[in-house]
Amino acid sequence: MTMLLLDDGPVAPDAAVSRTGGVPTAPAGTVWPVCRLCAGPLQFLAQIVLGDTAPAGPGVLALFMCAHRPGRCEQWSPTAGGNLALLLPAGDLVSVPAPDADADVLGLGAVRAAVPVPAAPDGTAPDGRPVLGSLGGEPDWLQDDETPDCPGCARPMAYAAGLREGPEPTTAMNFGSGRAYAHACAPCGRAALLWQC
Ligand SMILES: [Zn+2]
Ligand SMILES: [Zn+2]
Repeated sequence: MTMLLLDDGPVAPDAAVSRTGGVPTAPAGTVWPVCRLCAGPLQFLAQIVLGDTAPAGPGVLALFMCAHRPGRCEQWSPTAGGNLALLLPAGDLVSVPAPDADADVLGLGAVRAAVPVPAAPDGTAPDGRPVLGSLGGEPDWLQDDETPDCPGCARPMAYAAGLREGPEPTTAMNFGSGRAYAHACAPCGRAALLWQC
């Protein structure tokens, strides 16, 4: 069953829940990731908590994308390096320090909790709250099926979660008015992010 991730209101920037915006949390010592194309620090988009029964769970997905050169760092690609998805172990995660005082990490303008709720039979939110994404189920591809292969074992990765741009244009992530898809391979500890519009 597809669970929608619904906007559950403002939350602390480092809250240990599924959320969009705020600061990434990761094992101590994790360095803020950079774009492989322009070398700028990636924008942190969201963390998604994957429960014990999730295809790639348990764990936490941390999702990043380059916001320095919109459309020019192949931000849509699961392999080019203009975005990053990390599959982290659940627990013992701490805030990742910004790369340095002058670095502009271009954080989203708002931090919103994303609570999983079963979708209504027609796939919409049962209570009208804004949809921030989805958890498990099948990817709602806007274009062709682009399930990525795992860079570790070369097998197709399991679909883990989807992201929407969010209800607030001034604070939203930029998927070209499209949707993002996060996949993971639990045995290899790898994850991938791509988007379509
Ligand atoms: Zn870049
Ligand atoms: Zn793998």
